[in-house]
Amino acid sequence: MVDGVLILPASLEESVFRGFINTPEHSYEVKVTLSSSNQISDARVEGDWRLSNLIRGQEDTLQQYLTESKTVPELLGKMRDLLTQLESSKPSPLGLALPLSVCRQLANDIDSLGWSRVQTVDTLFRHIQLVVRDQKNQAHTLTVSPTAKYPHEAPILTVDAPVDFKPHWDKTTGLCGLVSQFSSWLDTLGPFWSCMEELDAQTCILEPEHPSRAHTHRRILIDTHLSLVLTVNPLKPLILPEPLQFLGPDNRVRELRGKVGRNCTQWNERRSLLANLQSLLDLQFLKPSSKEAEEMSEECAICYDYRLNGVVPSVICPNNHCAKCYHNECFEEWLRGLPRADGLHTVLAGDCPFCGEVISLR
Ligand SMILES: [Zn+2]
Ligand SMILES: [Zn+2]
Repeated sequence: MVDGVLILPASLEESVFRGFINTPEHSYEVKVTLSSSNQISDARVEGDWRLSNLIRGQEDTLQQYLTESKTVPELLGKMRDLLTQLESSKPSPLGLALPLSVCRQLANDIDSLGWSRVQTVDTLFRHIQLVVRDQKNQAHTLTVSPTAKYPHEAPILTVDAPVDFKPHWDKTTGLCGLVSQFSSWLDTLGPFWSCMEELDAQTCILEPEHPSRAHTHRRILIDTHLSLVLTVNPLKPLILPEPLQFLGPDNRVRELRGKVGRNCTQWNERRSLLANLQSLLDLQFLKPSSKEAEEMSEECAICYDYRLNGVVPSVICPNNHCAKCYHNECFEEWLRGLPRADGLHTVLAGDCPFCGEVISLR
Protein backbone atom coordinates (compact mmCIF):
# COMPACT_ATOMS: atom_id res chain seq x y z
CA MET A 1 0.00 0.00 0.00
CA VAL A 2 1.23 3.49 -0.82
CA ASP A 3 0.28 6.29 1.55
CA GLY A 4 -2.66 8.41 0.36
CA VAL A 5 -3.41 6.21 -2.63
CA LEU A 6 -6.37 3.88 -3.03
CA ILE A 7 -6.38 1.87 -6.23
CA LEU A 8 -8.15 -1.28 -7.39
CA PRO A 9 -8.16 -3.19 -10.66
CA ALA A 10 -11.40 -2.40 -12.50
CA SER A 11 -11.10 -5.16 -15.08
CA LEU A 12 -10.42 -8.87 -14.77
CA GLU A 13 -7.25 -8.68 -16.85
CA GLU A 14 -5.89 -6.01 -14.49
CA SER A 15 -5.31 -3.60 -17.35
CA VAL A 16 -7.66 -0.90 -15.99
CA PHE A 17 -7.30 0.52 -12.47
CA ARG A 18 -9.59 2.97 -10.72
CA GLY A 19 -9.11 4.75 -7.46
CA PHE A 20 -8.31 7.91 -5.55
CA ILE A 21 -5.26 10.00 -4.76
CA ASN A 22 -5.75 11.71 -1.41
CA THR A 23 -3.83 14.90 -0.64
CA PRO A 24 -4.28 17.20 2.37
CA GLU A 25 -6.71 19.31 0.29
CA HIS A 26 -8.64 16.93 -1.94
CA SER A 27 -9.45 13.44 -3.01
CA TYR A 28 -8.82 13.12 -6.75
CA GLU A 29 -10.47 10.41 -8.78
CA VAL A 30 -8.10 8.65 -11.15
CA LYS A 31 -8.15 5.93 -13.80
CA VAL A 32 -5.08 4.17 -15.21
CA THR A 33 -5.27 2.09 -18.37
CA LEU A 34 -2.34 -0.13 -19.28
CA SER A 35 -1.55 -0.85 -22.91
CA SER A 36 -1.43 -4.42 -24.23
CA SER A 37 2.26 -4.64 -23.28
CA ASN A 38 1.31 -3.97 -19.61
CA GLN A 39 4.22 -1.52 -19.34
CA ILE A 40 3.64 1.38 -16.96
CA SER A 41 5.54 3.63 -19.39
CA ASP A 42 2.76 3.20 -21.99
CA ALA A 43 -0.10 3.63 -19.51
CA ARG A 44 -2.80 6.26 -19.95
CA VAL A 45 -3.67 8.25 -16.83
CA GLU A 46 -6.98 10.09 -16.61
CA GLY A 47 -8.22 12.18 -13.72
CA ASP A 48 -11.21 14.26 -12.70
CA TRP A 49 -11.37 17.91 -13.81
CA ARG A 50 -9.69 19.17 -10.66
CA LEU A 51 -6.73 16.89 -11.16
CA SER A 52 -6.51 17.74 -14.87
CA ASN A 53 -6.51 21.46 -14.07
CA LEU A 54 -3.80 21.15 -11.48
CA ILE A 55 -1.36 19.09 -13.53
CA ARG A 56 -1.76 21.07 -16.74
CA GLY A 57 1.74 22.02 -17.90
CA GLN A 58 3.36 19.16 -15.94
CA GLU A 59 3.29 16.69 -18.87
CA ASP A 60 7.08 16.21 -18.89
CA THR A 61 7.17 15.37 -15.19
CA LEU A 62 4.32 12.91 -15.64
CA GLN A 63 6.09 11.27 -18.55
CA GLN A 64 9.16 10.90 -16.34
CA TYR A 65 7.04 9.26 -13.59
CA LEU A 66 5.61 6.86 -16.16
CA THR A 67 9.08 5.84 -17.27
CA GLU A 68 10.42 5.47 -13.74
CA SER A 69 7.54 3.65 -12.06
CA LYS A 70 7.39 -0.12 -11.87
CA THR A 71 3.84 -0.44 -10.49
CA VAL A 72 0.60 1.54 -10.65
CA PRO A 73 0.62 2.39 -6.89
CA GLU A 74 4.21 3.62 -7.20
CA LEU A 75 3.18 5.88 -10.08
CA LEU A 76 0.22 7.28 -8.13
CA GLY A 77 2.39 7.83 -5.06
CA LYS A 78 4.67 10.04 -7.12
CA MET A 79 1.62 11.86 -8.49
CA ARG A 80 0.35 12.39 -4.96
CA ASP A 81 3.59 14.15 -3.98
CA LEU A 82 3.40 16.31 -7.11
CA LEU A 83 -0.24 17.26 -6.47
CA THR A 84 0.47 18.16 -2.84
CA GLN A 85 3.33 20.36 -3.99
CA LEU A 86 1.20 22.03 -6.69
CA GLU A 87 -1.65 22.69 -4.25
CA SER A 88 0.65 24.53 -1.86
CA SER A 89 2.33 26.58 -4.60
CA LYS A 90 -0.99 27.95 -5.91
CA PRO A 91 -1.14 31.65 -5.10
CA SER A 92 -3.92 32.63 -2.74
CA PRO A 93 -6.27 35.36 -4.02
CA LEU A 94 -4.97 37.85 -1.45
CA GLY A 95 -1.40 37.32 -2.59
CA LEU A 96 -2.44 38.83 -5.93
CA ALA A 97 -3.11 42.33 -4.64
CA LEU A 98 -0.84 45.14 -5.88
CA PRO A 99 0.48 47.82 -3.50
CA LEU A 100 -1.93 50.72 -3.07
CA SER A 101 0.57 53.21 -4.55
CA VAL A 102 0.71 51.12 -7.74
CA CYS A 103 -3.10 51.03 -7.98
CA ARG A 104 -3.22 54.83 -7.59
CA GLN A 105 -0.58 55.27 -10.28
CA LEU A 106 -2.52 52.95 -12.59
CA ALA A 107 -5.76 54.83 -12.01
CA ASN A 108 -3.94 58.08 -12.90
CA ASP A 109 -2.41 56.53 -16.01
CA ILE A 110 -5.79 55.26 -17.18
CA ASP A 111 -7.21 58.74 -16.53
CA SER A 112 -4.68 60.27 -18.94
CA LEU A 113 -5.28 57.55 -21.50
CA GLY A 114 -9.07 57.81 -21.25
CA TRP A 115 -11.33 55.26 -19.61
CA SER A 116 -13.13 54.74 -22.92
CA ARG A 117 -10.05 52.76 -24.01
CA VAL A 118 -10.61 50.26 -21.21
CA GLN A 119 -12.55 47.16 -22.13
CA THR A 120 -12.31 45.44 -18.76
CA VAL A 121 -10.30 45.84 -15.62
CA ASP A 122 -10.45 43.67 -12.53
CA THR A 123 -10.83 45.29 -9.13
CA LEU A 124 -7.24 44.45 -8.21
CA PHE A 125 -5.78 46.05 -11.39
CA ARG A 126 -4.09 42.76 -12.18
CA HIS A 127 -5.29 42.67 -15.79
CA ILE A 128 -6.32 45.74 -17.74
CA GLN A 129 -7.72 45.11 -21.20
CA LEU A 130 -7.30 48.07 -23.53
CA VAL A 131 -9.01 48.39 -26.90
CA VAL A 132 -7.03 49.79 -29.80
CA ARG A 133 -8.39 50.11 -33.33
CA ASP A 134 -6.30 49.47 -36.43
CA GLN A 135 -6.42 51.35 -39.75
CA LYS A 136 -9.41 49.27 -40.84
CA ASN A 137 -11.17 50.21 -37.61
CA GLN A 138 -10.99 46.65 -36.30
CA ALA A 139 -10.76 46.43 -32.52
CA HIS A 140 -7.73 44.70 -30.95
CA THR A 141 -7.21 43.96 -27.29
CA LEU A 142 -3.99 44.69 -25.45
CA THR A 143 -3.95 43.04 -22.04
CA VAL A 144 -1.70 44.83 -19.58
CA SER A 145 -0.73 43.00 -16.39
CA PRO A 146 1.25 45.36 -14.13
CA THR A 147 3.78 44.00 -11.65
CA ALA A 148 4.19 45.25 -8.08
CA LYS A 149 7.05 47.45 -9.33
CA TYR A 150 4.89 49.39 -11.81
CA PRO A 151 5.73 51.87 -13.36
CA HIS A 152 9.44 51.21 -12.74
CA GLU A 153 9.11 47.80 -14.28
CA ALA A 154 7.38 47.16 -17.61
CA PRO A 155 3.99 45.44 -17.30
CA ILE A 156 3.47 42.01 -18.85
CA LEU A 157 1.61 42.29 -22.15
CA THR A 158 -0.63 39.80 -23.90
CA VAL A 159 -1.92 40.21 -27.44
CA ASP A 160 -3.86 38.06 -29.87
CA ALA A 161 -1.33 38.11 -32.71
CA PRO A 162 1.02 35.72 -34.51
CA VAL A 163 4.18 37.53 -33.35
CA ASP A 164 5.21 38.98 -29.98
CA PHE A 165 4.60 42.65 -29.25
CA LYS A 166 7.84 43.96 -27.72
CA PRO A 167 7.52 47.69 -27.16
CA HIS A 168 10.02 49.96 -25.50
CA TRP A 169 8.70 50.67 -21.99
CA ASP A 170 9.00 54.27 -20.89
CA LYS A 171 7.53 55.00 -17.45
CA THR A 172 7.10 58.70 -18.26
CA THR A 173 4.73 58.00 -21.16
CA GLY A 174 3.30 54.88 -19.45
CA LEU A 175 0.12 53.42 -20.88
CA CYS A 176 -0.27 56.20 -23.49
CA GLY A 177 3.17 55.40 -24.93
CA LEU A 178 2.31 51.73 -24.93
CA VAL A 179 -0.94 52.24 -26.80
CA SER A 180 0.67 54.40 -29.49
CA GLN A 181 3.40 51.81 -30.07
CA PHE A 182 0.74 49.09 -30.18
CA SER A 183 -1.19 51.04 -32.76
CA SER A 184 1.79 51.33 -35.17
CA TRP A 185 2.68 47.71 -34.55
CA LEU A 186 -0.87 46.67 -35.54
CA ASP A 187 -0.37 48.41 -38.87
CA THR A 188 2.63 46.20 -39.70
CA LEU A 189 0.38 43.15 -39.30
CA GLY A 190 -2.53 44.67 -41.23
CA PRO A 191 -1.65 42.97 -44.55
CA PHE A 192 -1.42 39.58 -42.83
CA TRP A 193 -4.84 39.93 -41.21
CA SER A 194 -6.37 41.09 -44.51
CA CYS A 195 -5.04 37.94 -46.23
CA MET A 196 -6.41 35.69 -43.51
CA GLU A 197 -9.76 37.46 -43.44
CA GLU A 198 -10.13 36.96 -47.16
CA LEU A 199 -9.32 33.24 -46.85
CA ASP A 200 -11.75 32.85 -43.96
CA ALA A 201 -14.51 34.71 -45.79
CA GLN A 202 -14.08 33.11 -49.21
CA THR A 203 -13.01 29.52 -48.56
CA CYS A 204 -14.16 26.63 -46.47
CA ILE A 205 -11.74 26.41 -43.55
CA LEU A 206 -11.55 22.99 -41.89
CA GLU A 207 -8.96 24.00 -39.30
CA PRO A 208 -8.62 25.84 -37.00
CA GLU A 209 -12.28 25.50 -36.04
CA HIS A 210 -12.34 29.06 -34.69
CA PRO A 211 -9.38 30.92 -36.19
CA SER A 212 -7.96 33.59 -33.90
CA ARG A 213 -5.80 36.53 -35.00
CA ALA A 214 -2.75 34.59 -33.84
CA HIS A 215 -3.35 31.57 -36.07
CA THR A 216 -1.12 31.55 -39.15
CA HIS A 217 -2.17 28.15 -40.51
CA ARG A 218 -5.30 27.13 -42.34
CA ARG A 219 -6.58 23.87 -43.74
CA ILE A 220 -8.77 24.66 -46.74
CA LEU A 221 -11.23 22.19 -48.22
CA ILE A 222 -10.70 21.69 -51.97
CA ASP A 223 -12.88 18.70 -52.79
CA THR A 224 -14.17 15.52 -51.12
CA HIS A 225 -11.21 14.01 -49.21
CA LEU A 226 -8.93 16.73 -50.54
CA SER A 227 -7.60 19.73 -48.65
CA LEU A 228 -4.71 22.16 -48.60
CA VAL A 229 -2.70 23.02 -45.48
CA LEU A 230 -0.67 26.19 -45.50
CA THR A 231 1.09 28.50 -43.06
CA VAL A 232 1.21 32.19 -43.91
CA ASN A 233 4.24 34.28 -42.98
CA PRO A 234 2.77 37.09 -40.80
CA LEU A 235 5.43 39.57 -41.89
CA LYS A 236 5.39 38.65 -45.60
CA PRO A 237 1.86 37.34 -46.13
CA LEU A 238 1.86 37.79 -49.91
CA ILE A 239 4.75 35.48 -50.73
CA LEU A 240 4.09 31.87 -51.79
CA PRO A 241 3.54 30.00 -48.50
CA GLU A 242 5.91 27.05 -48.29
CA PRO A 243 5.52 24.20 -47.97
CA LEU A 244 2.04 23.76 -49.38
CA GLN A 245 0.77 20.45 -48.07
CA PHE A 246 -2.04 18.52 -49.71
CA LEU A 247 -4.07 15.92 -47.87
CA GLY A 248 -5.93 13.45 -50.00
CA PRO A 249 -5.68 10.44 -52.31
CA ASP A 250 -2.30 10.03 -54.00
CA ASN A 251 -3.41 10.74 -57.58
CA ARG A 252 -5.18 14.00 -56.64
CA VAL A 253 -2.24 15.15 -54.52
CA ARG A 254 0.20 14.39 -57.38
CA GLU A 255 -2.00 16.33 -59.79
CA LEU A 256 -2.04 19.40 -57.52
CA ARG A 257 1.71 19.22 -56.88
CA GLY A 258 2.22 19.15 -60.66
CA LYS A 259 0.18 22.35 -60.99
CA VAL A 260 2.18 24.04 -58.25
CA GLY A 261 5.40 23.10 -60.09
CA ARG A 262 4.11 24.45 -63.41
CA ASN A 263 2.40 27.61 -62.14
CA CYS A 264 4.58 28.80 -59.28
CA THR A 265 6.55 31.18 -61.52
CA GLN A 266 3.29 33.05 -62.16
CA TRP A 267 2.96 33.95 -58.43
CA ASN A 268 2.53 37.70 -58.24
CA GLU A 269 2.93 39.42 -54.87
CA ARG A 270 0.82 42.36 -56.04
CA ARG A 271 -2.23 40.12 -56.10
CA SER A 272 -4.03 38.80 -53.04
CA LEU A 273 -3.01 35.52 -51.45
CA LEU A 274 -6.37 33.96 -52.34
CA ALA A 275 -6.15 35.02 -55.99
CA ASN A 276 -2.61 33.66 -56.24
CA LEU A 277 -3.54 30.34 -54.63
CA GLN A 278 -6.48 29.87 -56.97
CA SER A 279 -4.43 30.49 -60.10
CA LEU A 280 -1.55 28.39 -58.74
CA LEU A 281 -3.89 25.42 -58.30
CA ASP A 282 -6.02 26.37 -61.28
CA LEU A 283 -9.28 26.08 -59.30
CA GLN A 284 -11.89 28.04 -57.36
CA PHE A 285 -12.10 27.19 -53.67
CA LEU A 286 -15.49 26.20 -52.29
CA LYS A 287 -17.36 28.95 -50.49
CA PRO A 288 -17.69 28.59 -46.72
CA SER A 289 -20.77 26.79 -45.40
CA SER A 290 -21.88 25.98 -48.94
CA LYS A 291 -23.92 22.82 -49.40
CA GLU A 292 -21.06 21.08 -51.24
CA ALA A 293 -18.68 21.97 -48.45
CA GLU A 294 -21.00 20.43 -45.90
CA GLU A 295 -21.35 17.23 -47.90
CA MET A 296 -17.60 16.98 -48.38
CA SER A 297 -16.77 17.21 -44.71
CA GLU A 298 -15.96 13.56 -44.29
CA GLU A 299 -16.41 11.95 -40.87
CA CYS A 300 -13.71 9.75 -39.30
CA ALA A 301 -14.16 6.12 -40.33
CA ILE A 302 -13.15 4.95 -36.85
CA CYS A 303 -15.15 7.13 -34.44
CA TYR A 304 -17.79 8.31 -36.99
CA ASP A 305 -17.50 11.88 -35.76
CA TYR A 306 -16.39 14.84 -37.80
CA ARG A 307 -14.83 16.93 -35.04
CA LEU A 308 -12.92 15.27 -32.20
CA ASN A 309 -11.83 17.86 -29.61
CA GLY A 310 -12.09 20.47 -32.35
CA VAL A 311 -9.90 18.52 -34.77
CA VAL A 312 -11.19 17.18 -38.09
CA PRO A 313 -9.90 14.01 -39.79
CA SER A 314 -6.48 14.55 -41.36
CA VAL A 315 -5.21 11.02 -42.03
CA ILE A 316 -6.44 9.94 -45.44
CA CYS A 317 -5.96 6.54 -47.03
CA PRO A 318 -3.91 7.02 -50.24
CA ASN A 319 -5.81 4.22 -52.04
CA ASN A 320 -8.15 6.11 -54.41
CA HIS A 321 -10.85 3.44 -54.21
CA CYS A 322 -10.94 3.60 -50.41
CA ALA A 323 -9.86 7.14 -49.43
CA LYS A 324 -11.28 6.79 -45.92
CA CYS A 325 -10.42 9.59 -43.47
CA TYR A 326 -9.37 9.23 -39.87
CA HIS A 327 -8.52 11.51 -36.99
CA ASN A 328 -4.81 11.29 -36.29
CA GLU A 329 -5.65 10.32 -32.71
CA CYS A 330 -8.14 7.58 -33.70
CA PHE A 331 -5.77 6.11 -36.28
CA GLU A 332 -2.82 6.06 -33.87
CA GLU A 333 -4.93 4.50 -31.17
CA TRP A 334 -6.14 1.86 -33.59
CA LEU A 335 -2.55 1.07 -34.61
CA ARG A 336 -1.48 0.87 -30.98
CA GLY A 337 -4.13 -1.76 -30.41
CA LEU A 338 -2.60 -3.99 -33.07
CA PRO A 339 -0.28 -6.74 -31.79
CA ARG A 340 2.63 -5.69 -34.00
CA ALA A 341 2.51 -1.98 -33.35
CA ASP A 342 5.37 -1.34 -30.95
CA GLY A 343 5.03 1.44 -28.46
CA LEU A 344 3.52 4.85 -27.99
CA HIS A 345 5.88 7.17 -29.82
CA THR A 346 7.08 5.09 -32.72
CA VAL A 347 3.91 4.84 -34.80
CA LEU A 348 4.77 6.40 -38.14
CA ALA A 349 2.77 4.27 -40.53
CA GLY A 350 0.17 1.54 -40.48
CA ASP A 351 -2.39 -0.27 -42.56
CA CYS A 352 -5.74 1.29 -43.40
CA PRO A 353 -8.38 -0.52 -41.29
CA PHE A 354 -10.61 -0.77 -44.36
CA CYS A 355 -8.43 -1.68 -47.32
CA GLY A 356 -5.02 -2.57 -45.84
CA GLU A 357 -3.11 0.08 -47.80
CA VAL A 358 -0.13 1.51 -45.87
CA ILE A 359 -0.86 5.00 -44.56
CA SER A 360 2.05 7.09 -43.30
CA LEU A 361 1.39 9.67 -40.61
CA ARG A 362 2.41 13.28 -40.87
ZN1 LIG B 1 -12.09 9.67 -35.12
ZN1 LIG C 1 -8.01 2.48 -47.25
